[in-house]
Amino acid sequence: MLPDFRVRQRDFLLEISRAMTAQLDLGEVLRLVLNASMVMLAGQVGLVALRDAEDGYSIRATLGVESDRLDDLNVRLAELVSSTGWGFDREFLNTKLNQMAVSLDRTLRQSLFLPLVIGEEPVGLLIIFRSYWIQATDNDVQILQSFADQAAIAVHNAQLYARINQERKQLVAILEYSADGVMILDRQLRILGFNRALERMTGWTMQEALGQDQDAVITWKKLEKSDLHQAMAEGWPFRTPKDAPTETLYVEGDLLRRDGMTLSIGITYAALLADDGTLTTIIANVRDITHFRRAQEMQNVFISTVSHELKTPVALIKGYAGTLRREDATWDPAVIRDGLTVIEEESDRLTALIENLLAASKLRAERMRLDVSDFQMDRLAADVVERFKTQTTKHQFILQFPKGFPIIQGDEVRLRQVLDNLVGNAIKYSPGGGTITVGGEVDERHATVFVRDKGIGIPEDEQEHVFDRFYRVDSAISKKTKGTGLGLYLAKAIVEAHGGSIHVKSKPGAGSTFYFTIPL
Ligand code: ADP
Repeated sequence: MLPDFRVRQRDFLLEISRAMTAQLDLGEVLRLVLNASMVMLAGQVGLVALRDAEDGYSIRATLGVESDRLDDLNVRLAELVSSTGWGFDREFLNTKLNQMAVSLDRTLRQSLFLPLVIGEEPVGLLIIFRSYWIQATDNDVQILQSFADQAAIAVHNAQLYARINQERKQLVAILEYSADGVMILDRQLRILGFNRALERMTGWTMQEALGQDQDAVITWKKLEKSDLHQAMAEGWPFRTPKDAPTETLYVEGDLLRRDGMTLSIGITYAALLADDGTLTTIIANVRDITHFRRAQEMQNVFISTVSHELKTPVALIKGYAGTLRREDATWDPAVIRDGLTVIEEESDRLTALIENLLAASKLRAERMRLDVSDFQMDRLAADVVERFKTQTTKHQFILQFPKGFPIIQGDEVRLRQVLDNLVGNAIKYSPGGGTITVGGEVDERHATVFVRDKGIGIPEDEQEHVFDRFYRVDSAISKKTKGTGLGLYLAKAIVEAHGGSIHVKSKPGAGSTFYFTIPL
């Protein structure tokens, strides 16, 4: 080794130790290790390779190597490692290293090879080539070894740091992009973390929310299930037995947003405790439960509507039947006929309602089967209109099909059901009367049928929901009108089973037009 090596050795070892504690950037650490060893060993060419996840090695830093040589060097390195393993047959190793040296530069004479190892774990390799040959003493070898050990630790630390950094980034991304709101609180319930979803839910930006008391941001219009402050006053987060994880706390209610609107939310609080059991942080997961609440509400409304719908015809049938069978009275044939007509009509209504219910529940379980034939849609529409005409005096009907409206291939019974529903709705939801137009349009590939009324219309934000199961627009008129919220759901299912689509255009107060399209 070079004579001044011993003078410098301590400096370099010190430098690497410092790098180990001060430098956490892996690239920087590798450059430092390589620079120090090149100077220390008076090398012309040097490289550091690190072990990767697949147990192979790849070169991560070089000095004195043209970049176009890297691929070739990596291949030679792979050969060397795979054939020597960690036994490192000296002779084989030397031959391979010499070949590597020659491939780089014919004037290189000696190669020095230092495995970087922590405990038993290989971390990487350091290889230095130089243009002359010196026999190393035992002392040199010892010092080189301790240098390699220090370098290995520095590299390992930097790798760990990079990994932790990566994991931290992933955590931040999970927090940021989570569809649920996430908030981190200290034990005084001050906000330390606040994600995007919460910005949307509360109307507070992250910058504004950070450092605030959570009560400033989470203000309840109505608190329904438990209360964080009360739970904490009662000792939450409890931890008995000692090492058991603490129980989470669930709070639910209506949040008063910053813009004055309300939002139904559920918050799950989880506590992080220090080893001595003191509370350090609370992670709060905030979920928007509006849809859930709405579904519950819809189900309740549905049950009460269906029972009402069932009760009315049953009451009528029972009333008429009871009256007609009274033995103390003799009825006029006209009265008997009228009574029986009501019984028949109400039974039909019951049957239709039960069929709708069955169809809707069956639809959830299986695909709809169609009985397809060729039929004339404009004729079907005229037929439906003819029947509805007898049920209303307030409405006028217009048929608007172009001449030569094409023959449709489809299930005539089901498509009649669609028209029945649309025309029935047009009457129901235009209590003031007006014209109802049933018409058609054609392009090369589709036939479209529309039903237009001049009724109450549907607010913009309700339009996409009216096709949902059990959905009824919450308005004074629909409260007074009988219905189950199944008609449009079934209509949509039928049209879609034909490969078509259904939609509505509507303006509150001005009327609605429902369109359905069947491919030709
Ligand atoms: P319903 O049995 O309640 O009539 P539908 O599924 O047929 O059920 O319709 C769902 C909801 O859509 C209705 O409750 C009503 O609020 C709204 N709706 C349907 N058709 C019309 C229309 N032509 N005009 C206004 N609102 C309508």
